[in-house]
Formats: sequence, C-alpha cells, structure tokens
Amino acid sequence: MSEEFRTGIGWDVHRMAADRPLILGGVTIPADAGLDGHSDADIILHALTDALLGALALGDIGMIFPDTDPRWKGADSRVFLEHARELVQKRGFRLVNVDCTVILERPKLKDYRQAIRESVAGMLGLAIERVSVKFKTAEGLGPAGQGLSAEAQAVATVRSVGWDG
Ligand code: C5P
Ligand code: MG
Repeated sequence: MSEEFRTGIGWDVHRMAADRPLILGGVTIPADAGLDGHSDADIILHALTDALLGALALGDIGMIFPDTDPRWKGADSRVFLEHARELVQKRGFRLVNVDCTVILERPKLKDYRQAIRESVAGMLGLAIERVSVKFKTAEGLGPAGQGLSAEAQAVATVRSVGWDG
C-alpha cells in the first residue's frame, strides 16, 4: 500500500483575564491571570485541533464547534481535539507527531512541560516522545508581550494507515 504523509498547521489567540483559569493542554497552571473565551480557552488544544483538521483539509475548529453555539460555552476543549482525532482516523490516517509553541509572557511554564506533554499525549493516543511543547515570551512586545493575550502555534503530521515504516 502506498504511504501518504500530510501536515497541518494551527494557531490560536485568547485574551488574558484575571478572573479566569489558565488551562494549557488540559493542565490547569497556577497563575494570576487565565484566558478568556467561550470555551475553556485552551489555546494549545485549539491550535492542535486546527492542525489535525488542517492535515486533512477538513476546515477549522469554528466550523465544527462555533463559539456562538451555547453547547460549547465553558466546554472542555479536549472534546474538540478528540473529535479531530476521530476524523483523522475515519479518513484512514494516524497521527505521527505534534509540535506546538505557546507564546505567553508569564508565568514561566517550563516546569509544566512534562505534565502538558503527558496530558496531550493521552488525548491523542501518542507516545510522549511524539508530543513536543515549547514556550516563548514575546519579549515585552505587542499584546502578548504586554500580558494582554497568549498565543499557541501547532503542527501535526499524519500518515496513512497501513504503512509500518
Ligand atoms: O522567550 P524566551 O526565549 O526568553 O524564553 C526563554 C525560555 O523560557 C524558553 O526557552 C522557555 O523554555 C522558557 N519559558 C517558559 N515560560 C514562558 C516563556 C518562556 O518557561 N511563559
Ligand atoms: Mg481558542
């Protein structure tokens, strides 16, 4: 069977808000401010969801889970990612790896890297070695640098099922 690889990209941004939790990759991080949004505003999971959908050109997260739909108010974003993972499987593909970058001025996140990787790996059914999570400040520049927002970028690679290489 001929193999096929696909790659998708995702990006997300949410506003920081003092009265909200900071949830990244399904892990709640102790912080003075969290992320505002219709759902739980988990930027890692939103960017990853779009990366998975993008790999198979299946549209974007807002097409499937519109933020105008009351069903998704306060939603746990793992629902979005798990749905995207199911769509990938239904199309006859399997995830190879994911990589993401969070752009957040504070707090420092590096102590949570393992917990976030484990959490995302669990949601995606991937070995932890296939899940990369990176953190960057915005060096004080722009809205992220001023602590007004946080961003996440993600890429995902999938391969057609049936290839064992
Ligand atoms: O943005 P900058 O290059 O200065 O980040 C240096 C390091 O600090 C990063 O490599 C990352 O591991 C860590 N970092 C972090 N939490 C953030 C931003 C950066 O742990 N919110
Ligand atoms: Mg989002």
